[in-house]
Amino acid sequence: MHLYCHDHPHQLSLTTEVLEATPGRVRLTESPFYPGGGGQLPDRGAIRWHGGDIGVMGFEIVNDQLWHLLADPVALQGQVDVGVNPSFRQMMREMHTGTHILNALVFQSFDGALVTGVQMNDDGTARMDFDLPEADNDRLRALEAPINDVIRQNIRVTCDYVAYEEARAVHGLIRSRSVAPPPTENGLIRIVDIAGLDRQACGGTHLDNTGDTRAIRILKIDNKGRHNRRIRLGLVGLGPLAD
Ligand SMILES: [Zn+2]
Repeated sequence: MHLYCHDHPHQLSLTTEVLEATPGRVRLTESPFYPGGGGQLPDRGAIRWHGGDIGVMGFEIVNDQLWHLLADPVALQGQVDVGVNPSFRQMMREMHTGTHILNALVFQSFDGALVTGVQMNDDGTARMDFDLPEADNDRLRALEAPINDVIRQNIRVTCDYVAYEEARAVHGLIRSRSVAPPPTENGLIRIVDIAGLDRQACGGTHLDNTGDTRAIRILKIDNKGRHNRRIRLGLVGLGPLAD
């Protein structure tokens, strides 16, 4: 589905209108929220209406329409002010961009190894699973230095769209079924590009430059079955890596 946050990634608050509402659920004319997906958690935030502020607890996509699930069973109406929690969005952008950097380095260093799963957490950590039957865990752990080199190089991160069939033909552009977004109604798929390093289909929110993040540590590597390696990473200063 078309997301406002893809076109306006920096707009975290806006004034809009209620389009449709039932108690505890609302659709808006415009919404700056990322509803989650591709391993990224949904945004958090609030909606201000004439009855006060109400928390947005989650999202539901029904028939390609975005519903906001509210903290109280009120039926909103009229004009509302919507706000995404900026620190949570920032943390997700950092984690998400960090997973792309790790993904790119694994793809390069381990012969096009593909992602089998990704999950970002609300404590500044994330895990990525790769199809890596033969990998040496010390080599994976050693990717921490090149990850932070990429951060220091402050490389530009951009988005563009290509035809889905074209994307399918390029090896590595669709890195994982669990991560790639569905094509838009125009048959296009959104590509996230870290200049010169990585290019892959993704529907999440990312940084504008790799340098806009806290440093990243590799926390743990687990073997998950014969084929999969699970790499846990964390942002320095948060969660398990808080000072
Ligand atoms: Zn992404």
